[in-house]
Amino acid sequence: AKAAVGGRFQFFREEMNQAATERLLIESSLRQALARNEFRVFYQPQLDLASGRIKGMEALVRWRHPELGIVSPARFIPIAEETGQIIDIGKWVLREACRQAREWNADAGSALVVAVNVSAKQFEHGCFATQVRQVLEETGLPAHQLELEITESVIMDRPDHVVSVMKELRELGVRFSIDDFGTGYSSLSQLKRFPIDTLKIDQSFTRDIGLDEGGTAITRAVIALGHSLRLQVVAEGVETTEQQRFLAQHGCHGMQGYLFSRPVEPAAFGALLSMHVPS
Ligand code: C2E
Ligand code: CA
Ligand code: CA
Ligand code: CA
Repeated sequence: AKAAVGGRFQFFREEMNQAATERLLIESSLRQALARNEFRVFYQPQLDLASGRIKGMEALVRWRHPELGIVSPARFIPIAEETGQIIDIGKWVLREACRQAREWNADAGSALVVAVNVSAKQFEHGCFATQVRQVLEETGLPAHQLELEITESVIMDRPDHVVSVMKELRELGVRFSIDDFGTGYSSLSQLKRFPIDTLKIDQSFTRDIGLDEGGTAITRAVIALGHSLRLQVVAEGVETTEQQRFLAQHGCHGMQGYLFSRPVEPAAFGALLSMHVPS
């Protein structure tokens, strides 16, 4: 019995070591990732539910690590936030996404809205509004084609500072959405203060449509809230036609999810754009 316990402990320790080693590897190679051009931006289409048209896309960063392969943002973004590297990575993603959206304006003759995720750290950073303004100027993307996705925690972190930065950017025409809406702790009275255009229903609620009464009720309530506050509502993580039908019936404006497309590399997104005939 002693040996078995010892063996299990040994196994546990190896697992721990492996996790710690991987984290160290990620942390140290993250420092060179930008200079080595290892990041890519993938795009997931956002569809208008009423017309079936592609109205925009969310930019999602990918990291091609030389040894680990593709590292998920869920794995490295939290580390980049801790170390502060998110400032440079976030700025790179923003510029790349705006440049690409501007290029699709010219190619496809369409004016799609590109949604870019922004971390709390980026907002706290003194010159975030200036950075965004610079990127828009450099890339030539009209401000109304940029939407910044922030979470409730960003807003609740330093509400007075955040609201002033948002208002400054809003004046340029930049749009804002609340990501993962319903999973955070913001109060409605707080939300009202912020210049928000869109609520994104978290995929944990979308998944429950038709399966779980609570999740279905939350989805219905968020759509109704959006209507009464005159906000756009976009559902994330739409994987089934049942979910799509429910959302359309309840007047949800947009959807995003594997049902239509996974996040794809730019060339594949460009192909989607040129082939896409609304159903
Ligand atoms: P998020 O912003 O909530 O992005 C949605 C995530 O759901 C993406 O994962 C997307 O690939 C995935 N997804 C989309 N449709 C479906 C679906 O139908 N089913 C399922 N199961 N999943 C779906 P991804 O790309 O791995 O990104 C994970 C998270 O990493 C993002 O969650 C976001 O919080 C963060 N992230 C990604 N790119 C960036 C970035 O450039 N900056 C920052 N700050 N965070 C980023
Ligand atoms: Ca997002
Ligand atoms: Ca989300
Ligand atoms: Ca999320």
